[in-house]
Amino acid sequence: MLGRLLRVPLPALLITDPQGRLLDANDAFLRLTGLVREEVEAGRVSWDALAAPETPSAGAQAVDALRRLGTAGPLETEYVRTDGSRVPVLLAALGLEAPERTLVLVQDLTPRRRAEEALRFLSDASRELAEVRAEPDAILAGVAHLAASSVASWCLVDVLEEDGTFRRVASAHRDPDSEALLREAPRFPATTEAGSALFQALARGESRLYPDFLPEHLKQMTRTPEQLAQLERLGGLSVMLVPMRSRGQAVGLFTIASCDPGRRYGPEDLEMVEELARRVVAAVDNARLYQEAQEAVHLRDEFLGIASHELKTPLTPLRLKLQVMQRQAGDAMSGGPPLAPERVSDALEVALRQVRKLTDLVDNLLDVARISAGRLRLELEEVELSSVAAELLSRFAPSAEKLGCALELHAPEPVFGRWDRLRVEQVVTNLLSNALKYGAGRPVVVRVEEDGERARLTVQDYGIGIAEEDLGRIFERFERAVSDRHYGGLGLGLYITRQIVEAFGGTVRVSSSPGEGSTFTLELPRGQLPIIPSFG
Ligand code: ADP
Repeated sequence: MLGRLLRVPLPALLITDPQGRLLDANDAFLRLTGLVREEVEAGRVSWDALAAPETPSAGAQAVDALRRLGTAGPLETEYVRTDGSRVPVLLAALGLEAPERTLVLVQDLTPRRRAEEALRFLSDASRELAEVRAEPDAILAGVAHLAASSVASWCLVDVLEEDGTFRRVASAHRDPDSEALLREAPRFPATTEAGSALFQALARGESRLYPDFLPEHLKQMTRTPEQLAQLERLGGLSVMLVPMRSRGQAVGLFTIASCDPGRRYGPEDLEMVEELARRVVAAVDNARLYQEAQEAVHLRDEFLGIASHELKTPLTPLRLKLQVMQRQAGDAMSGGPPLAPERVSDALEVALRQVRKLTDLVDNLLDVARISAGRLRLELEEVELSSVAAELLSRFAPSAEKLGCALELHAPEPVFGRWDRLRVEQVVTNLLSNALKYGAGRPVVVRVEEDGERARLTVQDYGIGIAEEDLGRIFERFERAVSDRHYGGLGLGLYITRQIVEAFGGTVRVSSSPGEGSTFTLELPRGQLPIIPSFG
């Protein structure tokens, strides 16, 4: 009565005679052990027969203490239930007189053991998670294994992709023979699939606890009878589904299951896994940041190496030319042959070309710094694209001739737009110089045309081309699809090109086949043009 009022479960109690035979026991004791009242009242159960066979000393100690001191315990031991399962208990006994009886209090230690196990699991997992250098997927695999060796029979970890699908990244089963079964477990329905209310709730970050996991719950997790059969084979009497959340959104899902009839999950288990999920997300974030930082440092070092090499390359011919001229000027001053103006002009031409190269490189670096700081400013004015292309082609004519590339321009009409002239020139220059550099001495064709609100410029070459898998990345910073041994370059030209084109609200794309050449297509919105009055 008192216990019910206070909502505190009474401890299990029993009374024995001096021989240790059970005379009476309360309901809590019967529930704990699985014994039935008739068996107890018939005097058929002996107290020491309840203890697990490998812990006889606990019973002997208790009997000894009772005889000497009149009390015994508290002692920790394990009882064997009538169904054969074990339960950890704490015992205390008190000797009563007239009639001679022993009163025994038995406390179920399962909740305490669970809490200890959960704490141990969390602290082991935290140790695993502190391994910042690990790959995110390796971290998740480690946690799944820890779960399956302590709080779960099996554990699945899925990552929630942006399109609402789940990608399995880890699975672990306590029983090694069932690992294969788990690996084949079907992936969960996408949150976008019709009828996947459960997975939509999980994607919103809501956990689910199934102390008793029933066939109807299983059905919500599968789409086809085959998938259902697969999951049924895995088993799971009690299940928790706990999303991993980052910045208010679910990014993944833990599925934790127990196949042990004595291990049903409760709210405290759910809380523990939610805490685990929070720690995992923090650790995975850290690991990702660490990896990104490592990659950025690596990229920067690599870039510094290439940049120093590229900046040094024009300096060597520049120094040589200047040294030769200095020597000849010295000779002329000390009575030697005078400096021939053509030779001076040639040398200055070479020197200026190298200075131009250096200036371009430095300008590129400055542009990248400007773009990163969001300081790319455009001075818009009316520009005619066909004439820009024609002028640039004539600027490139000498180097094209040296490389044996024929330059062709198809720009039948003037194409006006509001752009930043120098930036447009820079973009076309980048595409043209790449077409010559990677054009294998074959023709390069430039086309300019108007397409309604937009202007289109294409640069087509028949050179080395670009492999399919590189097409996406060549517009990224420092990304190159050729070896620097064969072709110099910083991998910045296309990056800058795309940034400028996007600042105009336009696009740049490439189509290419290795060995056959590449076509870069630039599309720029022509912008608001002033209305030009026409005179009759
Ligand atoms: P860079 O030429 O300095 O390497 P870019 O950013 O201009 O840098 O180009 C990036 C990469 O794209 C190049 O390294 C090359 O692999 C590839 N690429 C660019 N243009 C062409 C082209 N016309 N033909 C073949 N590959 C090209």
